[in-house]
Amino acid sequence: MPSGSAVWTERLEAAAAWRRTQGLWRERNTLQPELLDFAGNDYLGLKDDPRLAEAQATAVRRFGAGAGASHLVSGHLEVHEALERRLAALVGRPRALLFSTGYMANLGTLQALCDSDTLLFQDRLNHASLLDGAALTGARSRRFHHRDLDDLERLLSRAPAEAAKLVASDGVFSMDGDVADIGGLATVSARHGAWLMIDDAHGIGILGAHGDGCVGHAHGIEHVPVLVGTLGKALGTGGAFVAGSEALIEHLIQFARAYVYTTAQPPGVAAASLAALDVLAAEPERRQQLRDNIHYFRHEAALLGLPLGDSFTPIQPLVLGEGRQVMHWAARLREAGLLVGAIRPPTVPNGEARLRITLRASHPRESLDRLLEALARLYEEDAA
Ligand SMILES: *Cc1c(COP(=O)(O)O)cnc(C)c1O
Repeated sequence: MPSGSAVWTERLEAAAAWRRTQGLWRERNTLQPELLDFAGNDYLGLKDDPRLAEAQATAVRRFGAGAGASHLVSGHLEVHEALERRLAALVGRPRALLFSTGYMANLGTLQALCDSDTLLFQDRLNHASLLDGAALTGARSRRFHHRDLDDLERLLSRAPAEAAKLVASDGVFSMDGDVADIGGLATVSARHGAWLMIDDAHGIGILGAHGDGCVGHAHGIEHVPVLVGTLGKALGTGGAFVAGSEALIEHLIQFARAYVYTTAQPPGVAAASLAALDVLAAEPERRQQLRDNIHYFRHEAALLGLPLGDSFTPIQPLVLGEGRQVMHWAARLREAGLLVGAIRPPTVPNGEARLRITLRASHPRESLDRLLEALARLYEEDAA
């Protein structure tokens, strides 16, 4: 065997051994249809809606299975244009730009806005795509304590007044379900001449008067100049968007490499997103059902003494601490026909491994009761 490949074999084996000894080995399971799903992000049950499937099929017949090229070459189709207009209207911004994934939207936006002269301030618990985007830009990056405006203020006040500054935060934190203080972030950012970027991947479709998210129309473009949303969560499809001013969107079209150098989203997916926006507008009762389910689940969990995190969104974390315990609970729940997220470091900080339970509008009460009973049993066993 040539010596070069021995180096690689050793590297891969060492990485795998390290991850296994930490109890952090990850596996992909194909979703078993008989399991009740409390792990996914399809909060409004739109993923399987026949109207989305129909819109997708129609668009595939009309525009083709793929876009055929990047947006700046010949892949920018009518359906993409229509979707961008609808997304801009949803969040009350002049323009929106469609990206293939939320991960790419964050990477592309940070890379296009920042360079080694900019200062970037991020909440400690921001999504990996924001942290990775910061690394990509070479910007000087600081992390402030989770939702701690005083800490942010302290960091901003040390920064040179003339420097370009960007504050970035998740809207709804993806592993905790808590929501950023948008008004507070906007005030502190404005005081220091910083732009505010909010990634509302889990708020779009759920929060706000119209599913316009935690930023929505309440905090205008002057407060949150850069707004990111994703379509693969509550809207049930895939892709993401950045919304903002004419100048911001044109800047991204020119400079965001994750936008420029990739094939445009398949048109059928964009058409399904348009259909999802129609359902979102026509059926506000889905959001009400979801809120009812969240309220019921939290109320019953409190009666059982389950230590849920403080969240009023569909993301309900049950922090257990150690990765092994989380894997044990998740396996026992699976035996009982219940699928929940088992989240371990490095996705969350050390010692904060957790079950990530997600609720949906379409979960019937009996399903919620089944989960609550199973959790209560495990909780009692652990205490004994
Ligand atoms: C899921 C998520 C993303 C990534 O979006 P994808 O479309 O799945 O790539 C980005 N930011 C946050 C906060 C997320 O939860």
